[in-house]
Amino acid sequence: MKLDATDLRYVTSDEFRVLTAVEMGSKNHEVVPSPLIAQISGLRNGGVNKMLGDLTKRNLVAKVQNSKYDGYRMTYGGLDYLALRALSKRDSMYSVGNQIGVGKESDIYIVADAEGNEMVLKLHRLGRISFRAIKNKRDYLGKRKSASWMYMSRLAAQKEWAFMKVLHEHNFPVPKPIDQARHCILMEFIDAYPLRQVSDVPSPGKLYSTLMDLIVRFARAGLIHGDFNEFNILIRRDTGEPVVIDFPQMVSTSHENAEWYFNRDVECIRRFFRRRFRYESALYPRFRTTLGETPDGEGFRLDVVVAASGFKQKDMKTLGEVSA
Ligand code: ADP
Ligand code: MG
Repeated sequence: MKLDATDLRYVTSDEFRVLTAVEMGSKNHEVVPSPLIAQISGLRNGGVNKMLGDLTKRNLVAKVQNSKYDGYRMTYGGLDYLALRALSKRDSMYSVGNQIGVGKESDIYIVADAEGNEMVLKLHRLGRISFRAIKNKRDYLGKRKSASWMYMSRLAAQKEWAFMKVLHEHNFPVPKPIDQARHCILMEFIDAYPLRQVSDVPSPGKLYSTLMDLIVRFARAGLIHGDFNEFNILIRRDTGEPVVIDFPQMVSTSHENAEWYFNRDVECIRRFFRRRFRYESALYPRFRTTLGETPDGEGFRLDVVVAASGFKQKDMKTLGEVSA
């Protein structure tokens, strides 16, 4: 989907009120009836209908004909708009540049602040791929599929933000988090290649042990990345040092399947080094011994810190149930 920053300047304040009203109405209506939109926005009915028409043309809301009543729902376009507007009102970002990544469940853009400093905007887009584990969650999703996916995308962004902040504060090699709004995260741009694209490194053994040490350091701080692979490890163009990204699926070492997640992260790296660099080592970290050792240096539990930061266990669970 295209992100259009020019739109930011061409939505009138009344249209903005109408869009916000649709968003608020979406909390308990999959299809928000027009009279409710008018009521929430506090604007005249006739005016609201015209604005809804304009917003529909620009794909910020979508008109839905229901069996019971007609109404509107938010689109990702509308949610993007509200998030971008919030970020630019706070002076966190000013302009949108090129899209640099389309993940399974996110879009990545280069953006800039008013001084032209480049940053990365990650927009979470859950629900783009298949329904996977969602079948069991029917009671949760009910008939409100799209609204719920937007809600889940927001949770994913909040979770990723909470982890990125804590990791950055504790000097883990992750991008510096800058701001967060709705389903979006704004972070430092890393001038790097994903490990996936790297065919040659000066010393595979050195990189291998740096990455394994990182898995161990995470675990000693109470965390498992959960998706520690060649797509989520960036290699800095200048120094060759790794930077880790992509945290919505992080789990605590107290998670019931922690050992399985830990081993999977370790195995991903071993397999990649075997295939790409023909490098194999008998040395690799084991979950039990890693946790059994007294935490030297990392005398803190970041999983506990994140839980205390406001990202609720309940939300973690809701997310876990779709993203496993
Ligand atoms: P997804 O959840 O879709 O996998 P990621 O966070 O892994 O999203 O980002 C997808 C891609 O975007 C990465 O593989 C990387 O190429 C690029 N990317 C993400 N964050 C940054 C960043 N801070 N700096 C530079 N490139 C980034
Ligand atoms: Mg990724």
